[in-house]
Amino acid sequence: MYASSTLEAKVVILGSQGVGKTSLVVRYISKTFSPNSTSTIGASFMTKKLTVDHCKVRLQIWDTAGQERFRAMAPMYYRGAQAALLVYDLTSQESFAEMHSWIEELKRNMTEDLVIVVVANKLDLAQTRREVPLEQAREYVTRVLGPETPLYEVSAKDDDGTIEDIFLHLTHALVERKQYLPRDRKRQPTMTIVEDTPSNSSLCCGYL
Ligand code: GDP
Ligand code: MG
Repeated sequence: MYASSTLEAKVVILGSQGVGKTSLVVRYISKTFSPNSTSTIGASFMTKKLTVDHCKVRLQIWDTAGQERFRAMAPMYYRGAQAALLVYDLTSQESFAEMHSWIEELKRNMTEDLVIVVVANKLDLAQTRREVPLEQAREYVTRVLGPETPLYEVSAKDDDGTIEDIFLHLTHALVERKQYLPRDRKRQPTMTIVEDTPSNSSLCCGYL
């Protein structure tokens, strides 16, 4: 009986330096800011609780600590992740071109069933400084990651709620794929049931 459990999922943020990864995470989290430093590996994660499809989920959102400038992340960064946010800056063709190396990184480090969302940031600058047309990005994402991979254009600076939509979409996809295991099966440690509240009667993700 896992009806009132919270699922925990690991989400990694990838993309070149300066595209706005940290700004996106901070924008999304800021209402319930909860930083967690893991200084030994030079990365950190923040957590966000949300309820999707009657399922309580705690997202563990991993942001880099600048290692992206070396074009490769420590394996620890990816380990156990169920989802990845791939970010580029729509005012920088260079950051868009560099997505390719991040996708290669993902392919090297991750399993096939990873939930991937592509995010073009700095939409507030699109009118004056856009370098990456939406159609170019759409064509690339469809070709390289498949037509089902979502692509969002957002502004971490002037967000209108789209950033929340991204994480909702991602969480919905995770819940749908049921990429988690009950507490008594700990082989996939980052997507486990982390708490039970007997008084809460909400149905969670088809466990009943
Ligand atoms: P990271 O290196 O990918 O983590 O990028 P940061 O979050 O540190 O952002 C890099 C720079 O871009 C900073 O100067 C941010 O203020 C700026 N920035 C981030 N997001 C946006 C955005 O949506 N619009 C604009 N205009 N600037 C942004
Ligand atoms: Mg950063």
